Amino acid sequence: MMISFIVFLFGLAFGSFLNVCIHRLPKGESIVKPRSRCPHCGKPVAAWDNIPLLSYLVLRGRCRNCQKSISPLYPFVELLTGLLILLTYRQFGFTAEFIKFSVFGMLLLILIFTDLQERIIPHAVTIFGIFLGTSISWLVPVEGAASTWLLHRMGFFPPTWEAESFLASVAGMILGGGSFYLVGTVFYYLKGKRKDYLGFGDVMLMTMVGSFLGMSLTLLTIFLGSLLGALIGVPLEYTTKRFHGYEWPFGTFLGVAALFSSFGGNAVIDWYLRVSGLS
Ligand SMILES: [Zn+2]
Repeated sequence: MMISFIVFLFGLAFGSFLNVCIHRLPKGESIVKPRSRCPHCGKPVAAWDNIPLLSYLVLRGRCRNCQKSISPLYPFVELLTGLLILLTYRQFGFTAEFIKFSVFGMLLLILIFTDLQERIIPHAVTIFGIFLGTSISWLVPVEGAASTWLLHRMGFFPPTWEAESFLASVAGMILGGGSFYLVGTVFYYLKGKRKDYLGFGDVMLMTMVGSFLGMSLTLLTIFLGSLLGALIGVPLEYTTKRFHGYEWPFGTFLGVAALFSSFGGNAVIDWYLRVSGLS
């Protein structure tokens, strides 16, 4: 119980850093310095006013200097990050899986909010993620039933589980990034305006997701992300004037779906295979 609480506090602190990434990376600013400033008056935030969650509550969501209100998104991101790290710890304990899925989850949280707020999926985050996803596949096996089956069909047998896991990660990348690139290209030729449908950020995001999750969970992510987008986007677009012709952040839906797939995806796939009689 005590350890869970300390893990949660660490998560809150990481959440503070995620806020910095979310607000600075889309502008191409440094995430290391300068110190956090009030978005209204520009006064640097003192260390004691920068305690996750607590400072926001104590200051009632206002800057100590200019009294203008601070977005509730800051404490929300801190809370989400705390819960993410806690959930990952409860599921995996202190293992390599814990590191893999906490870092993956935090990268997803950054992209969920940069896409939601600015419609930007920074390449700095996705390229770092792709590098990390493929590297950590040598430590934590990536689910690869489908990619291994494909390799066997082509007459190739990976010599070790590490090689199999790495190839599963690469296969996930090709599936995730490739399918989005293909859809984007088709739209480009059909309509001559690919950017309106799928940006290259989405391609990079799905390449990253594929490198961490492998083929099956990447497919599930695409399916759930599209479903979520349709369930939320279509009704709002047709009933609410404000959302008429709204540019939906597809990356946000995909990010939420990828987060879900990392924790509950295998259970969903097992359930589907059972009810469909495939296993
Ligand atoms: Zn201020």
